[in-house]
Amino acid sequence: MNAKEILQGNRRALAKAITLIESKLDGHRLEAGKLLEELLAHTGNSIRLGISGTPGVGKSTFIETFGTYLISKGHKVAVLAVDPSSPINGGSIMGDKTRMEKLSNNEGAFIRPSPTSGSLGGVAQKTRESILLCEAAGFDIILIETVGVGQSEFEVASMVDFFMVLMLPNAGDELQGIKKGILELADAIVINKVDGDSINLATQTKSHYQSALGIIHPTSFWKPEVQLISALENKNIDGVWEMVTRYKEQSIENNELKSKRASQNKDWLEKLVMEELKLMLKLSPKTNKLIQTLEADLTNGKTTAYNASKLIIETFKKDLK
Ligand code: GDP
Repeated sequence: MNAKEILQGNRRALAKAITLIESKLDGHRLEAGKLLEELLAHTGNSIRLGISGTPGVGKSTFIETFGTYLISKGHKVAVLAVDPSSPINGGSIMGDKTRMEKLSNNEGAFIRPSPTSGSLGGVAQKTRESILLCEAAGFDIILIETVGVGQSEFEVASMVDFFMVLMLPNAGDELQGIKKGILELADAIVINKVDGDSINLATQTKSHYQSALGIIHPTSFWKPEVQLISALENKNIDGVWEMVTRYKEQSIENNELKSKRASQNKDWLEKLVMEELKLMLKLSPKTNKLIQTLEADLTNGKTTAYNASKLIIETFKKDLK
């Protein structure tokens, strides 16, 4: 795999490198690891934006409009996806229809669907590495799309600089249906489909969210904003970009961007180590057997979780020697 070709912005090389990253073969993993280390010095020069929202809210329409706008301003836009449905049932919420047709034919865009196998953690891990590859290939805006299902929003929020949630102009229902914790993740709520009859309703919804967000984020340097847009009618798309640009400037001034990325990297490292340890526990036959026995004991009230965990770790340590 040729790092130079990626650095030159060769899209085929980029696509091949992402395929390498997504591969499960040990040899490929090794090669991918080497490639990433070679490219690491050329990564990080982008703004990483997370875009979330329930199916039908207009994510692909927004990404198409927003992406085309950004490219017209001279940017290079990569679109990655974290689709939590594909690893679980083999189907896909996001990938079935032909999405973002216009953008995918644009020279300034690179679109990659969600990896199709592995756990959500695995998919997220591959997406993190794909971000780095896209940055090395000169993409200065990375959009990472996900649906509001399960943990995927949390995964995406933990790998981006700025996280926005798309909503519908329907205050009541949306506030009811809103997932706990999502407002804590959001740097912006973007209310889409603000066109036709929805305009009044959207204005009410905006003030609902503004007060909700004000309570949640009292001290952060950035006060999450609510934007009203119509992705279909191309309304206030420039407003969203202006907001993101302002966020980037402020977060660089406050040294927040660097520290956010550093702490995301640290969390990621910790997660990887924990996952590897869990795998090692499973692969150690003695420990694995003991875990099963102790789980049964725990259910039957023969041991406590604390004592069982001590015993498991002791056995595991001996097994390692
Ligand atoms: P996704 O599932 O979140 O990617 O949603 P889509 O982008 O596929 O949009 C779902 C439907 O909503 C499509 O029929 C779009 O044409 C429509 N839609 C998207 N954005 C807007 C908008 O700004 N206004 C209106 N009226 N319809 C929209």
